[in-house]
Amino acid sequence: MDDHSGRIPVPSAAPARFIGSEIYRRSSFGRSHPLRVPRVSTVIDLARALGWLAPQLYVTSPRAKPAALTHWHRHDYIAALQRVEATQQASVEDRTRFGLGTHSNPVHPQVYCRPATAAGGSLLAGELLAGGGVVYHPAGGTHHGMPDRANGFCYLNDPVLAMLSLRRMGVRRIVYVDIDAHHPDGVELAFAGDPEVLMISVHEEARWPFTGTLGEDARGSAVNLPVPREFNDSEMGYVREALILPLVAGFAPEAIVLQCGADAVEEDPLARLSLSNNAHWSIVAALRPLAPRYLVLGGGGYNPWSVGRLWTGVWGVLAGQELPDRLSPEAEAVLRALVWEGARQGRQPPEHWFTTLRDAPREGPVRPEIRERVAHLMRRRGRG
Ligand SMILES: [Zn+2]
Repeated sequence: MDDHSGRIPVPSAAPARFIGSEIYRRSSFGRSHPLRVPRVSTVIDLARALGWLAPQLYVTSPRAKPAALTHWHRHDYIAALQRVEATQQASVEDRTRFGLGTHSNPVHPQVYCRPATAAGGSLLAGELLAGGGVVYHPAGGTHHGMPDRANGFCYLNDPVLAMLSLRRMGVRRIVYVDIDAHHPDGVELAFAGDPEVLMISVHEEARWPFTGTLGEDARGSAVNLPVPREFNDSEMGYVREALILPLVAGFAPEAIVLQCGADAVEEDPLARLSLSNNAHWSIVAALRPLAPRYLVLGGGGYNPWSVGRLWTGVWGVLAGQELPDRLSPEAEAVLRALVWEGARQGRQPPEHWFTTLRDAPREGPVRPEIRERVAHLMRRRGRG
């Protein structure tokens, strides 16, 4: 490996690896929580049904040890999380001090084990990528987690832990790109002011957690693009070419971490953006050649069909597979078996949610405010 730049080419023969776990299959945040739906298990089942996930590509996620979590999280918070799982009860103090036992961050049977497994996968990803390569960890992407409290369905912050894991492997310059509908407040807190980290986020404006305004730059480490409702594929394509790719390439990162949340698509119940999954896949593909190490994480996404199809397509892109126009009967059966209880859209899902991976593109005009915001951000980075 190159002794200081770390900018080695990815060997073309090195296949992308997939980090997963069976823990996500049977785990739920509770009957009324948006994360009651299966997500990672759908991706694993679909990828296997398509013949895209040979056993040698699949890595079982270890569960992180508490000591590894305290690389960023506070000891007392990790202890509280373990205790709450053991007792299945949260005290008033657990709620007020640690954000545990709330509607967003409920106590559930795997309230410690599940996030610790996702964190273990992200810590492992950093190690697997030491010498270069591509890793996909769809259970990762819990970008709201704070050092001392749960936040926005995120009990831990595995993207931060992945980036710190890369750092321990000697990787210095890291670009973090986040295309979830929500702003990555926890990640931004962790790396604010770090001159060797560039964080780029595209997220819905005026939506929780209400951070990530256009002017907020995390002491020079962040580029935040809030976008209006009904943000479409053409607009994301413009943002990709005019903002994301030039800034990433100009930063010359040794590693790229992409948080590929699936809640900015039209059918997601928690946001009001209008992308199709083509927008996500184009970004996944375009970032790959820009660094020798590439980690793609999941994130939000609350419609079980749109998440399963989008994230399986991400793996197809990373694994060099051709995405079929129509799914095989085995793959279709995985999607037909999904249920989305308590959701109006789940009662009569449209047929293409069962039979395809690829959405119809959602092109549209590129609104002037998006061009103006991108121009403003490029000028601020000295690229105008
Ligand atoms: Zn989100």
